[in-house]
Amino acid sequence: MALALNGAQEIVIDPNGDLILRFFTSKDTGNAQFRAARGNGLVNGRITAKMQVSRMVIAKNSSYYRRMLTAGSSVASDKVIDIKESKVRWAELWFRAFHGADQPLLSFKIGIPGVWEGNSATPDEMKKLGGWFRKLMENKPIAKLDNNLEDMRMLMFPCNVFNHVEAFAEITRVLAYESPKSITELNPTEHRKLHLDGNVIGSLNSARGSLKSKLRTMLLLPAGNIILQSCICRRDTKDAFDDALKTIGFWHVIDFSRRSVQSILDMHSFINFSVQIPPTACETCHLNADAGAVRKARWEVVNDFHGLCLDCMEQTKTGSVDEDYWKKDSLQQWDRGCRIKHGESTWNFSFMGRKTDMEQHQKKKRLLALVEAQKQTRNGRALMARQV
Ligand SMILES: [Zn+2]
Ligand SMILES: [Zn+2]
Repeated sequence: MALALNGAQEIVIDPNGDLILRFFTSKDTGNAQFRAARGNGLVNGRITAKMQVSRMVIAKNSSYYRRMLTAGSSVASDKVIDIKESKVRWAELWFRAFHGADQPLLSFKIGIPGVWEGNSATPDEMKKLGGWFRKLMENKPIAKLDNNLEDMRMLMFPCNVFNHVEAFAEITRVLAYESPKSITELNPTEHRKLHLDGNVIGSLNSARGSLKSKLRTMLLLPAGNIILQSCICRRDTKDAFDDALKTIGFWHVIDFSRRSVQSILDMHSFINFSVQIPPTACETCHLNADAGAVRKARWEVVNDFHGLCLDCMEQTKTGSVDEDYWKKDSLQQWDRGCRIKHGESTWNFSFMGRKTDMEQHQKKKRLLALVEAQKQTRNGRALMARQV
């Protein structure tokens, strides 16, 4: 309930509450003054809201208020306390969460910065807003954000704090594909200490970079293969392939590198990629310049990264990574034990442990693959020799 009272909102969070918090501002209040709750002196500013709360509940739930209300503090036993704070709506959000009271239906734009506003809250205290956050996300599913990258950059931190595994994965997935430049967090408040671990943003940018580099490789690979042929028709075929790359802007090198991966993948000419292979081209030229292979590779990039997985991140954020994490890779069950379905790329970039551990693992994997390939070749030769 909120009533306007002499310009100040009266907000009853607990009708039996034994403490009134008076929020005031001194911004743009001219010569306005009010009588202080303590000491009877005059204070420059204006009271914007009075909130009735339970002293015990807020002291129990917030370390900041616990300090304020503990014996020894000058206002510890006061029944009315003045607090200089202009963001009353967000204070109300937090107090309602502490009291388990119904939350106001804040709009998305106002609600999310409110989460960030809990600057003095510990991670455990922040979790008290978890239920409200889930409800907010249900009212505004990620799909309805219309790929608004600003909102998504602002949402990464709350999704992480509230352990919203699905939203975090979807948001980081969209950011990796849609961001034309390096991804950064957007903190809508002045509290700079609230942010994701540096590793998270670093990994997300690595995922973004890897999509771009996979895209480049898959487009350059056929062109390279054609050039390495020795047939006479290779030059005409290469020209034809280069012309096809021109239709997706590949040769506008700077522009291509500045665009988001998704904007390239979505191009009509890429979805329907085709190469006008010269009729005189040999079979190998046809094979290497096959547009179907490029379209298939495009599809692989489209489905490569499923966002960062909070469960994989949690599993690897401590120094010693559990053997089970590497096992997920060798079994090719990258989302084993995770709350969301995802593939290898997500497993790889959600790794929050030491970089050298992952590098070592990948090196060992490559070596094993090489040994396996050599074994296959030897077996193949032996089989052929027996057949001869
Ligand atoms: Zn040829
Ligand atoms: Zn996972």
